Amino acid sequence: MSKLNSYNPATGEFIGDVPVTPEKAVTEIVRKAHEAQHSWGDLPVEERIDVLKKAASELQKESQKIALLLSKEMGKDIRRSYGEVAGCAGSVEYVANQVKDAIKPISCYGGQSVIEYNPLGVCAIIYPWNYPVSMAHWMLIPALTAGNAVILKPSEETPLVALAYVNVMNRVLPENLLQIVFGDEKQGKMLVKSDVDFIGFTGSMSAGRDIMSQAGRNLKPVIMELGGKDPCIVLEDADIDSAARFAVSNSIENAGQMCISTERVFVDYRIADKFIDKLKEYLMYFKVGSYTDPQANVGPIINEKQRNNILRHIDDAISKGAQVAGGSMDHPENFINPLILTGITDDMLVAKEETFGPLVCVTTFENIEDAIASANGTDYGLGGVVFGGYDAEYVASKLDVGMAGINTGAGGGGDTPWVGDKMSGVGYHGSPDGHRQFTQVKVINRA
Ligand code: NAD
Repeated sequence: MSKLNSYNPATGEFIGDVPVTPEKAVTEIVRKAHEAQHSWGDLPVEERIDVLKKAASELQKESQKIALLLSKEMGKDIRRSYGEVAGCAGSVEYVANQVKDAIKPISCYGGQSVIEYNPLGVCAIIYPWNYPVSMAHWMLIPALTAGNAVILKPSEETPLVALAYVNVMNRVLPENLLQIVFGDEKQGKMLVKSDVDFIGFTGSMSAGRDIMSQAGRNLKPVIMELGGKDPCIVLEDADIDSAARFAVSNSIENAGQMCISTERVFVDYRIADKFIDKLKEYLMYFKVGSYTDPQANVGPIINEKQRNNILRHIDDAISKGAQVAGGSMDHPENFINPLILTGITDDMLVAKEETFGPLVCVTTFENIEDAIASANGTDYGLGGVVFGGYDAEYVASKLDVGMAGINTGAGGGGDTPWVGDKMSGVGYHGSPDGHRQFTQVKVINRA
């Protein structure tokens, strides 16, 4: 049986391995999941929530240990890893109760007809490495609360943290209700073709296209949470300090490896000099380094392929006239230093493709309509942010995005969906409508 090796992205050091799941085993895993789902789906939702609350408390107990492994395997600093794991554990009860409310039967037509929200059966959740606990967890909790079994297919970059997470949850969950398939794209494809009832995918646009076309053959429902090219538009009357603070931190967070990362900044030319000075000031707060360095808050890039892609974007921008206005081009091995690049134009790769690196890419504009047109000029439409006063609402209304932020980040509070427009997503999770994506709607009509 072949192994999937895991490496520390800051050093390249081997940290462990897991067995790759063979094709035959995938069929058996799915069969067992269906079996486990029957009794789980028959439980009243309140009992399912009680079990999930116990699993959350186990996760909370282990959150420091899992966070350490997360940092070692994925690279982000301990504070961020701990926030991710403990945040997931802490949200279970709230989310599960929102799901319970969303899937309550609805009585229609004076009670003669009822809409039920029943479990789908077995949900496959295929996800990336950049938030290796929350990307599983955000779909797992609604899926389980709604009465489904779940099979996780974590990224090949972060199998160990996935295993640790599943083992802790499985201290409490019934046998085979939550299982895991290890491997890369090949195992992902096997799972998509298997007898699962739903596919929840978070990852790149290209993989999303492939998965959706495969799922379409068997008419399987999907949720697709894909990449982004988020703009941040800074208007003349913006609070320059808070706009610059946001632009830097949201471009560099998680070393830029975040779907909702700010990938382009458009600033009104009348305030551009002051704004860029502020960007430089805030850039000083960021330091690359391994999680073992307590001063570091920008981790390594996940792998060489992704690092080379960021370097290609930087080289392309500079060759087409961009200037390095802040940061050092002397990138340490396995890392990319945060950079401020100015003079970005629409023909550059950083303006078109998802960079997924710690770059603050700045363009100045004279006319708001031009900034909006450039911001919308990509296939992506996940999030977008505007800083400003008088025209800010107007700009937000014109951005082709699933989530728009006005003088703050994109992504709503409370039980709002996580949703992309255009090729950044299909369907969504979160919110009553999102929770119902994990159910089969059934109408009962009585005489
Ligand atoms: P990826 O698409 O390469 O891989 C994601 C997962 O899909 C992995 O588990 C991988 O093994 C599997 N996979 C890849 N190709 C597949 C296929 N054809 N069939 C089945 N499974 C397949 O993405 P990645 O590099 O791991 O993650 C980065 C991407 O994820 C970025 O584009 C980022 O924007 C996106 N992302 C989106 C969100 C969101 O909520 N919208 C959140 C996080 C990351």
